[in-house]
Amino acid sequence: MFPAAFDYSAPATLDEALAILGEHGDDAKVLAGGQSLIPLLKLRFAQPSLIVDIGRIPGLSGVDSENGTVRIGSRTRHRDVEAASQLRGRLDVLLAAAPQISDPLIRNVGTIGGSVVHADPQGDWGAVMLAVDAEFVLRSAKGERIGPADGFFQGPFTTAISPDEVLTTIRIPSPSGARTGGSYHKMERKIGDFATVATAVHVVLGDDGRITRAGIGLTAVGPHNIKAKEAEAALAGQEPSTELYAEAARLAAAAAEPNSDIRGTAEYKKDVVRVFVQRGLRDAVKRAQGANS
Ligand SMILES: Cc1cc2nc3c(=O)[nH]c(=O)nc-3n(C[C@H](O)[C@H](O)[C@H](O)COP(=O)(O)OP(=O)(O)OC[C@H]3O[C@@H](n4cnc5c(N)ncnc54)[C@H](O)[C@@H]3O)c2cc1C
Repeated sequence: MFPAAFDYSAPATLDEALAILGEHGDDAKVLAGGQSLIPLLKLRFAQPSLIVDIGRIPGLSGVDSENGTVRIGSRTRHRDVEAASQLRGRLDVLLAAAPQISDPLIRNVGTIGGSVVHADPQGDWGAVMLAVDAEFVLRSAKGERIGPADGFFQGPFTTAISPDEVLTTIRIPSPSGARTGGSYHKMERKIGDFATVATAVHVVLGDDGRITRAGIGLTAVGPHNIKAKEAEAALAGQEPSTELYAEAARLAAAAAEPNSDIRGTAEYKKDVVRVFVQRGLRDAVKRAQGANS
């Protein structure tokens, strides 16, 4: 299928891109890696009159950290997150999720920001962002605002971003020296596929070995990625134990809202969430106990 006709603009600066988006509003679409947008154009599910390619704008990609915050440029490709070894021991859940996204062809081109804004309920990054309490830096010609991942995902392919905004940076709290661990468990029909069910887990341990903070995000079991808040609350301040993981996993499964489909019944998918969260917590805590000890 061929897309409907559109105009194409490749601004050299972010300010230029924001001015164009401000002028065209809903009629324009940002293009990053194109791995989701181009199929949508070809299927004519999206028919913008203008494509604004942000591929030539400097400063939108890369991973760095400052003052206990990891910053990931929105145009950072999945494979560059996968290769960001400085995240090891700080944000293991990102390193665990990245290689499970599709296949190397997609990971070499698709971007973390494009995935977040695309907000596919089966997309992997949304759950990870919810688990690590990421914040999204959104710029428009009117200025900048920073919003939490929690609340950003509003429905299938629907987020809190406005048509005139560009996601520039993802910010993740990550105090250096903290004992953290993470895991991403994904069930897929075959290698390279979208998730049937996936779970993201991030834990921070205190000096006394208790869990000071736990983040749990769910993929493909609701209209958007879900933050399992009751399960997170049940873990905070507690000593890690098999019984605690089982109770948190039960609460996470209760937060899932899957549909029955050709890949499994809703009951089955909820049970996969339970099993994955239990495993995910065990793996994440083990990693955190190994870190800095
Ligand atoms: C065969 C196949 C398999 C896939 N498997 C998986 C998988 O297993 N897991 C998974 O998570 N994903 C998967 N994907 C999706 C893939 O990860 C995409 O790369 C990703 O969803 C979108 O990133 P992109 O950079 O290609 O964005 P684009 O396609 O360029 O854009 C996607 C959307 O985000 C908007 N956008 C992009 N960047 C910005 C920005 N900085 N600010 C504002 N708006 C922006 C665009 O306007 C568009 O609406 C798969 C895709 C394909 C084609």
